[in-house]
Amino acid sequence: MKLPTTPSLRLEGKRAVVVGGSSGIGLGCAVALAEAGAHVVIMARRSDLIDQMVAAMQLKGLLAEGAVADITDVNNFAALIARLRPFDIFVNSAGLARHTPALDTKPNDFDAVMNVNLRGAYFAAQAAAQAMIDDGRAGSIVTISSQMAIVGGVDRAVYCGSKHAVEGFTKAMAVEFGQHGVRVNTICPTFIRTPMTEQTFSRPDRVRWIEEKIKLGRVGKIEDIMGAVQFLASDAAALVTGTALVVDGGWTAE
Ligand code: NAD
Repeated sequence: MKLPTTPSLRLEGKRAVVVGGSSGIGLGCAVALAEAGAHVVIMARRSDLIDQMVAAMQLKGLLAEGAVADITDVNNFAALIARLRPFDIFVNSAGLARHTPALDTKPNDFDAVMNVNLRGAYFAAQAAAQAMIDDGRAGSIVTISSQMAIVGGVDRAVYCGSKHAVEGFTKAMAVEFGQHGVRVNTICPTFIRTPMTEQTFSRPDRVRWIEEKIKLGRVGKIEDIMGAVQFLASDAAALVTGTALVVDGGWTAE
């Protein structure tokens, strides 16, 4: 009797690029991929933060380097991505939130959020896919989306709109890139304490809301995302594309 073998979650010999990898969820993704054996390029805007995180990872014996990039500078970003070829894994964790009641949304806040979360994410995924296709690599592209791509939330009309749109382009890209073996997915986290959510967690009414909605009874940790990104990057997810891996403690189950 020949038993099936679990496909590997290891990433030795793979090269990964993680945008927004110098803080929060992106840093968690960078460490997770490196701990699985990948060589990770941390891309972010601030070189001081990149240097700090790369040094910390190298001290742990992980394979890491850095590159400065702004995801909204679409043409320069694509050129930089092309210079980082070849790579097998591309994770985009760059994101922006400017929460206001929908009736108070200002066009400049709308544009700023869409510029990073949708336009930036779209062209980043496009650049990554182009590199993988040119190199004939069956790669994995993961955008850090949000549970707010599935449900609505108070003061979050723009943020929700941007993240719902991410799910749309992810599915469409998965349809087009499947023939090249390039997989395109998102991870949809619930609330996690990071620099982005400091303001939300400073409000007791919002903390009550979050704790009520998360059925597992605790807010998310960066560590909760690390296994998810390792899985989507690995051969264990070889047939997974065009979908969202929801890590929300049950928020959207209700
Ligand atoms: P964070 O503030 O630690 O990370 C966001 C990162 O995006 C930062 O490193 C920032 O420098 C980078 N960034 C912003 N604009 C950029 C640009 N123009 N070019 C390059 N990098 C840019 O916050 P986080 O919570 O780790 O957020 C990471 C992702 O996770 C975001 O997309 C966010 O929307 C998403 N998310 C966060 C939560 C949460 O509760 N923290 C929940 C769901 C989804």
